[in-house]
Amino acid sequence: MTETQPAVLILLGPPGAGKGTQARMLEDRFGLVQLSTGDLLRAAVAAGTPAGLAAKSVMEAGGLVSDEIVLAILKDRMADPDVARGVILDGFPRTDGQAAALDALLEGAGQKVTAAVSLEVDDAAMIERVSGRFTCATCGEGYHDHFKQPRRDGVCDKCDGTAFKRRADDTAETARARLSAYHAQTAPLIAHYDAKGVLERIDAMGPIDQIAGALGQIVGARSA
Ligand code: ADP
Ligand code: ZN
Repeated sequence: MTETQPAVLILLGPPGAGKGTQARMLEDRFGLVQLSTGDLLRAAVAAGTPAGLAAKSVMEAGGLVSDEIVLAILKDRMADPDVARGVILDGFPRTDGQAAALDALLEGAGQKVTAAVSLEVDDAAMIERVSGRFTCATCGEGYHDHFKQPRRDGVCDKCDGTAFKRRADDTAETARARLSAYHAQTAPLIAHYDAKGVLERIDAMGPIDQIAGALGQIVGARSA
């Protein structure tokens, strides 16, 4: 009998494509663990660690943090026991170097990428999405000024929290820099995963639930 490997799902897509929103829905539905290098880096910045101090100004400018820092942070997190349930990589890998390091890491553990899903969206809409977004300060649920307000004004749908926060880099100007970094350094990874036979593309301009449905089908089919 072959043992089922824990799923390794990669979400590719520009800032604002909905990677975080979808990753959280997949966590709830499939018991996978969301691993967001953006969240890990923001935690390092908030904690004032050496990696956080080095990453802060790059993140504020909308550039990419060095592979060295990102890989160190990711490897640390991958060593936690909960990761054994399977992971959704959200915002990683973002460069050729990171993709090669991930391939090596998985190979060493006898694992493979289950699927790399490219969330396909229009650039102009992404600037608008990113500029209006905010999250619950308690549970991290994502919201948007125009597209997804909490059902009750000022109260989180998920946890009833009443404090919300916005990221310092969610301005139109920084979003443009992040979008260019995506096209220059991350979009080429689509071909990398296509060559491995694990690429899936989803139209991510539609409603959140429709995208979640398409992703759920991919995860279901690929982990069967
Ligand atoms: P978004 O995808 O909306 O840009 P993230 O939270 O994934 O948001 O990332 C925020 C910032 O953190 C990025 O603009 C970048 O500076 C840094 N970052 C996150 N993940 C990586 C990564 N894998 N490699 C390099 N920098 C990263
Ligand atoms: Zn909440």
